[in-house]
Amino acid sequence: MNKIQKKTDVILIGAGVMSATLGSLLKELAPEWEIKVFEKLGHAGEESSNEWNNAGTGHSALCELNYTFEKPDGSIDISKAIKINEQFQLSRQFWSYLVKSNLIRNPQDFIMPIPHMSLVQGEKNVTFLKKRFEALSNNPLFQGMEFSDDPEQLKEWIPLIMQDRTSNEPIAATKIDSGTDVNFGALTRMLFDHLQSKDVEINYKHKVENIERTSDGSWEVKVHDIDSGQIEYHTANFVFIGGGGGSLPLLQKTGIPESKHIGGFPVSGLFMVCNNPEVVAEHHAKVYGKAKVGAPPMSVPHLDTRYIDNKKTLLFGPFAGFSPKFLKTGSNLDLISSVKPNNVLTMLAAGVKEMALTKYLIQQVMLSDEKRMEELREFIPSAKSEDWDIVVAGQRVQVIKDTEDGGKGTLQFGTEVISSADGSIAALLGASPGASTAVHVMLEVLETCFPQHMKEWEPKIQEMIPSYGVSLVENPELFQEIHTSTGQMLGLCKKELAYS
Ligand SMILES: Cc1cc2nc3c(=O)[nH]c(=O)nc-3n(C[C@H](O)[C@H](O)[C@H](O)COP(=O)(O)OP(=O)(O)OC[C@H]3O[C@@H](n4cnc5c(N)ncnc54)[C@H](O)[C@@H]3O)c2cc1C
Repeated sequence: MNKIQKKTDVILIGAGVMSATLGSLLKELAPEWEIKVFEKLGHAGEESSNEWNNAGTGHSALCELNYTFEKPDGSIDISKAIKINEQFQLSRQFWSYLVKSNLIRNPQDFIMPIPHMSLVQGEKNVTFLKKRFEALSNNPLFQGMEFSDDPEQLKEWIPLIMQDRTSNEPIAATKIDSGTDVNFGALTRMLFDHLQSKDVEINYKHKVENIERTSDGSWEVKVHDIDSGQIEYHTANFVFIGGGGGSLPLLQKTGIPESKHIGGFPVSGLFMVCNNPEVVAEHHAKVYGKAKVGAPPMSVPHLDTRYIDNKKTLLFGPFAGFSPKFLKTGSNLDLISSVKPNNVLTMLAAGVKEMALTKYLIQQVMLSDEKRMEELREFIPSAKSEDWDIVVAGQRVQVIKDTEDGGKGTLQFGTEVISSADGSIAALLGASPGASTAVHVMLEVLETCFPQHMKEWEPKIQEMIPSYGVSLVENPELFQEIHTSTGQMLGLCKKELAYS
């Protein structure tokens, strides 16, 4: 029987924040291109991008201690913090452009201002935090950061955390008011609504089962329509695999040389959510602590004010754990099925190297509710078990690959764009810093896969993202201008919050 192939210009696999961002960029740059989206679930933003599945931090290195390192000479390396901050500014600019152009509305439904704080205890950590503060607060991107090791000041900043604290250990915090809470689920849904209004064909409950190169160099995507049970074949000149944790298995199916010798290590997560409105009302910040020894950077504990469903709430976590699934809605066979002859040695090497991490994650899975409460009480000494429930967060699949520095089977904690040499297919792997840097990462996809169009697209990109191609840290006046204008457009400058 002959297969009927339906042709299109671009196929986006997965309806998460990454496909949403790439689709929205492409619709502005090449409005005449036909785009189709295939998503296995019934709605957009249901996996990692969903508001309950991630921490909603607009990562700009204002509070995350793992983006600054103490060098052997005792000084603080802030280069990674600058990089992450600059990447977030790209997202702020693109979102502002979309709001200004009326392509999305009501930014307060997806982004809210919230102070970002780092909190440490113990003399050594306090010294580190002070040095970090000195290094960052002199930098234009981190202006407005405050430091305090005065318990009276800390009581004003974080009353819930300081209340009933009996420890005599030194304690200190930094605070910067220009932090954000981002509801990436709401943003993803808004972007897909916008794409639908621009005639992008969005197919929910359509699972991509295979991707194959055709004889003319384009890609054939085999799709299972879950409701009807039909199999469809769609071809496109360009395919983006934005399947989140599901991207690695799809990338492997393409057979491109770039997909070889790569593995994935899934890390699951849990948050504790406060069900007592009085406790929620007592806290107003995202407060990041320091990762425990042996813990991966993504399991740094934090106590976060969040805005979900137009309501202020309070989450603590994430507690990392191990699950063999690559997606929250995935299968227990995901990990084992991803082991192929070409990556088995890479995976085994990682298994040996990351024994301590695996042990840590298994210990985390075994934590009892009371043990989790003990960790929470390091933040809120008076926390009561009955005020807190557990929610299961999304899965993060960390990339394992062979690197020059780390050798065979090195676990990566960042995001990686893997593309074919001719740029006709690209996949996004990894999960950190994640959704906050979606615009930066999707611009990277455009630069890698469409170099022939970049000259023609550049003026439009600069209209949407004025700092595109410019270092903000080296242009403090431009940073100030952009920070102020995006803050106004996204409603971040309001002193009063709409929700209490
Ligand atoms: C616990 C946790 C905390 C996090 N905290 C933050 C944070 O504070 N700030 C931040 O910026 N980022 C954070 N992240 C990362 C962020 O959530 C992710 O980077 C981002 O959501 C990934 O978006 P995505 O579009 O790639 O994937 P997803 O949102 O997972 O979307 C992928 C989509 O592809 C679909 N799909 C998969 N396979 C197929 C298939 N075969 N066919 C069709 N569809 C398919 C899935 O159903 C899903 O809808 C966190 C992540 C986790 C798990």
